[in-house]
Amino acid sequence: MSLFESTQEGHKSGFVALIGRPNVGKSTLINKLIGKKIAITSPVAQTTRNRLRAILTTEKAQLIFVDTPGIHKPHHLLGERLVESSRKVIGEVDCILFIVEGCQEPGKGDLFILRLLQNQNLPVIIILNKWDLVQEDQYETRIKEYRDLVRNNNWPTFCCSALAGNGCDELIKHITNFLPVGPCFYPSNVMSDQPEKILLAELVREQVLLHTKEEVPHSVAVKIDRIEEVPIKKKKGSDTNRTAVLATVFVERKSQKGILIGKGGSMLKTIGCGARLQMQKLINGPVYLELFVKVVTDWRSKPARLAELGYEKI
Ligand code: GDP
Ligand code: MG
Repeated sequence: MSLFESTQEGHKSGFVALIGRPNVGKSTLINKLIGKKIAITSPVAQTTRNRLRAILTTEKAQLIFVDTPGIHKPHHLLGERLVESSRKVIGEVDCILFIVEGCQEPGKGDLFILRLLQNQNLPVIIILNKWDLVQEDQYETRIKEYRDLVRNNNWPTFCCSALAGNGCDELIKHITNFLPVGPCFYPSNVMSDQPEKILLAELVREQVLLHTKEEVPHSVAVKIDRIEEVPIKKKKGSDTNRTAVLATVFVERKSQKGILIGKGGSMLKTIGCGARLQMQKLINGPVYLELFVKVVTDWRSKPARLAELGYEKI
């Protein structure tokens, strides 16, 4: 369905931003709502770097979710760009999902975001995520703490576990109610606005975050150098294609390169293997992946490098 095709009466469409502190589960929730892994997730805070749009087309509506980097106090140029980009998103959407960690009481970071949102005249749904970690006898107290904060705004609260996917269908209905009437902006089979190259690069970065500790994660950027379809011969003579992906992993220091490559290349192999499996799910076919590691000192503070890696100034 395209923008120009007639849509059924009462069809809704709109943009929905997921806003919240780093690590509250924004990317996990997007993947659950869409039903496919589009955004990478990680136990390491501040890992979402791109403003990713994930698209869900239902019978009655098209919901375009905008994943954002978490809002936090920036420490370097990359951090500043990420926060800037999250704040800008607030002014560009029809509805906001304000995600908090339901398993903790509201903190300073949540209040900072709350005030940003209260200055806008937009519908907001507060999502108390990680509800699986809340003890049953805490349910009421927690909900009350957050409800009290937004009493004047009358924003609905919603408890869910993005990890388990509980309550997603209900949440989708809820969001749809807030959206304006309008046609689809994207064809119904499209799930993301990011080019394949970015999605694939993110899958490599996700594995780096998963397998390395402390000093490495935030210093890593991934660039896909080439994607090629190469034929593979099958036994019975029926040829099929395999996608060959060549990627470079950038780090800031030589020591980090050493960690990433690991003893006899073992770490790079683990990262490559994990990323390849995820890529195969995304692409729906066999993938051959080759990774290179390159040191670029302080790339996070160099505007030209940031732009090359897709972190453009907005
Ligand atoms: P983001 O920074 O807000 O995008 O957070 P992520 O989606 O990357 O999630 C951060 C961490 O929280 C990851 O380790 C997730 O697996 C975990 N997480 C997300 N949602 C839930 C949830 O509902 N329950 C639990 N227990 N963990 C969650
Ligand atoms: Mg994220």
